[in-house]
Amino acid sequence: MVANPRNPADPADGVNRHNFNSSSTQQTFALVYVNRSLGGDCRIGGTATLGMAGSNLNDGTAMRLDGTQISECAQIIQYPANVLHARVTAHETGHTFGLGHPIRSAPYVDAPPLVLPPDTYTRAIDVNTIYVWYGEYLYLGNIYRSEVVVDGVFDLVNNRADREDILAQWAYFRPGGYDAAIYQIDLRNPVDTQANRILVQIQERYIMDWTGRFTLQALTDWHFNPTMLPRMCVKSTCP
Ligand SMILES: [Zn+2]
Repeated sequence: MVANPRNPADPADGVNRHNFNSSSTQQTFALVYVNRSLGGDCRIGGTATLGMAGSNLNDGTAMRLDGTQISECAQIIQYPANVLHARVTAHETGHTFGLGHPIRSAPYVDAPPLVLPPDTYTRAIDVNTIYVWYGEYLYLGNIYRSEVVVDGVFDLVNNRADREDILAQWAYFRPGGYDAAIYQIDLRNPVDTQANRILVQIQERYIMDWTGRFTLQALTDWHFNPTMLPRMCVKSTCP
């Protein structure tokens, strides 16, 4: 049930402004959360979509949360379901308030993959392959990557916007411990040899991380990064 819906037949279409009668020119909107199936599968590494903000502005767009899948994923990864529900809800709300995921820039280094310096990336000549360092961690005997290239791989021309141009990515060399590994990424299209950096989503262990660290399981473990809070914008138009 949603008050003031854009489309009474489907609350997922969001809401109209709720200050019709106010003298302010600033349009304001309620936050809307709807429960919707979003696809993917928790058992296939990282493919499940648990939530979708739909907008990076608080403009009445409904945030979609896949409650069933959140519960299923929590069970599969042995994680408290209530914490996962809360974290996904807070994360999508952060997107609605204009926040993105934390990222780092990984510069290109002309080096053989096996001796790639930390936090950098390199590429194979004449093939659609890059190598990049990812952070990792151990949880319940499995190794999980804490980092991933940004969907859209901004600087890698011809490889864009979604995972479909990333054919595979896997740990190519793990020099010791479980904190980091060099990953090989096979791309659909030729790599742009002008790409002097790629963008990697990182884990700061805060709510806006691209994916939450499984080892943090208490509600009190989860906060917004204090440096992001001033960038939150609750208005429908933001600087
Ligand atoms: Zn997100």
